[in-house]
Amino acid sequence: MAKYIFVTGGVTSSLGKGIIAASLAKLLQARGLKVTIQKFDPYINVDPGTLNPYEHGECFVTEDGAETDLDLGHYERFLNINTSQANNVTTGRIYQTVINRERAGDYLGKTVQVVPHITDEIKRRMRLLGEKKEFDIIITEIGGTVGDIESLPFIEAVRQIQWELPDDDCLVVHLTLVPYLKAAKELKTKPTQQSVKLLSANGVHPDILVCRTELPLGDDLKKKIALFCNVKEDSVIESLDASTIYEVPILMLKEKLDLIVMKKLNISNLQEPELTKWREFLNKVKNPGTKVTIGLIGKYIELQDAYKSILESFIHAGAMNDCKVQVVNVHSEFINNENVAEKLKDLDGLLVAPGFGFRGVEGKIIAVKYARENYLPFFGICLGMQMAAIEFARNVLGIKDADSTEMNHQTLNPVIDMMEDQKKINIKGGTMRLGSYPCTIKENTLAYSIYDTTEINERHRHRWEFNNKYLQQFEDAGMIASGINPQTSLVEIMEIPSHPFFLGVQYHPELKSTVENPQPIFVHFIKAAKDFQKADKIKPAINAVKEMSTN
Ligand code: GLN
Repeated sequence: MAKYIFVTGGVTSSLGKGIIAASLAKLLQARGLKVTIQKFDPYINVDPGTLNPYEHGECFVTEDGAETDLDLGHYERFLNINTSQANNVTTGRIYQTVINRERAGDYLGKTVQVVPHITDEIKRRMRLLGEKKEFDIIITEIGGTVGDIESLPFIEAVRQIQWELPDDDCLVVHLTLVPYLKAAKELKTKPTQQSVKLLSANGVHPDILVCRTELPLGDDLKKKIALFCNVKEDSVIESLDASTIYEVPILMLKEKLDLIVMKKLNISNLQEPELTKWREFLNKVKNPGTKVTIGLIGKYIELQDAYKSILESFIHAGAMNDCKVQVVNVHSEFINNENVAEKLKDLDGLLVAPGFGFRGVEGKIIAVKYARENYLPFFGICLGMQMAAIEFARNVLGIKDADSTEMNHQTLNPVIDMMEDQKKINIKGGTMRLGSYPCTIKENTLAYSIYDTTEINERHRHRWEFNNKYLQQFEDAGMIASGINPQTSLVEIMEIPSHPFFLGVQYHPELKSTVENPQPIFVHFIKAAKDFQKADKIKPAINAVKEMSTN
């Protein structure tokens, strides 16, 4: 029988519920338990696939092709496990299921209501992973903040599950904020008290409080919170601001969060947490030997969450290279032929980000040209690879009107074209080429030296692809397809062998990077950036630009 831990949030959003849930999961996993995490989101979109990144940040894609909340990325990166469609459920999906059932006549003439029909469907989904008998612990993060109208059915479902299960099979962790008021020079507990009251008024009493705070709470404040919120003193956990999210499991370990959870769930005889690798990684993140500067060229750079998995992959790859990866965000909409050298001259590597639509693509193409001509390590992901192909077609093959039909329906030279099976699809949600597909890598290529194998699987999220009609022309001129889908011949990896590091991939390697298994392209890309920084001889053009700008 799996045991259930629910994580709710109070006072404000953005307190880091996902990180606390992932950290607790990490500690329990490090003690030998099989743990998974799922997220229930209160919005009405059936999944976040149709959301603009400005809304909730990046859309994380799982192996089985589910478009999910970015917190699932944290779960995978912390736990080194795969999640699936079952790990992310929204209000939209719940209602869709219930309404489909109603239309099929399954409710036999009954009035369909939030309680019990919606809450029953929420509970069924909350317990789905637990019924697989694969896990000892299921952690469920409830999105949103207690008090939101839309999270009420989820809180009610938690209340019912808590009532249905034996006491030691279920607990609730509530994450709150203890703000510091500068004028009063005091930490304030009232918001926490009120948020616990609100949760209790909905029938759920938290077993453990995790209090986000800028300053240590101290015993007196912990006592006060315990008394007013009716939890045991050892169950008030301080969660101090951390310099990196990867430190949070260690902070939670110091606060004995794992021990308190084990006591309440009546779990004993577990090993001490095995966190050697984690600590080594953390040590490298906090004490890097060197630094490289990578330009991230994208159009959503105002919102860092839009590129969450890429940024985390850089942290993993930096630790492997004993180096800090400083990411400089460059807005693709504002790059032009006149300012490109000035904007990119201090970089040691360039990553052109994934994306959709016309906005900012010409800037991306200009940036790729600069990286190709100046031997600057280049890494293009999805749209980034597509832009590299267009740049090569226009500037090396001389096909001036080369384009993607995503940006220009009329182009006579669609070097990037919509996949054939996508042309029949009109519905937007969940209809891209999604999830894990195989790719065969050619030997004696950069891709092969990175992966050290010919057969890989990576995750995808796209509608367009490289147009194979142009492949021979590309390869003759020096840009090759080094990775291909063995069933469909879809080009998965493109590279320029005469360049020290020029690689574009149609898939999203950032979705599979974890603390324990950093993604190899990122690791090699950072190494190439380090080499570029050292080897002044391969950047004469850049030096020339630097001289010009200092003169
Ligand atoms: N818009 C491009 C496509 O759909 C690239 C997608 C992406 O970068 N994820 O093919």
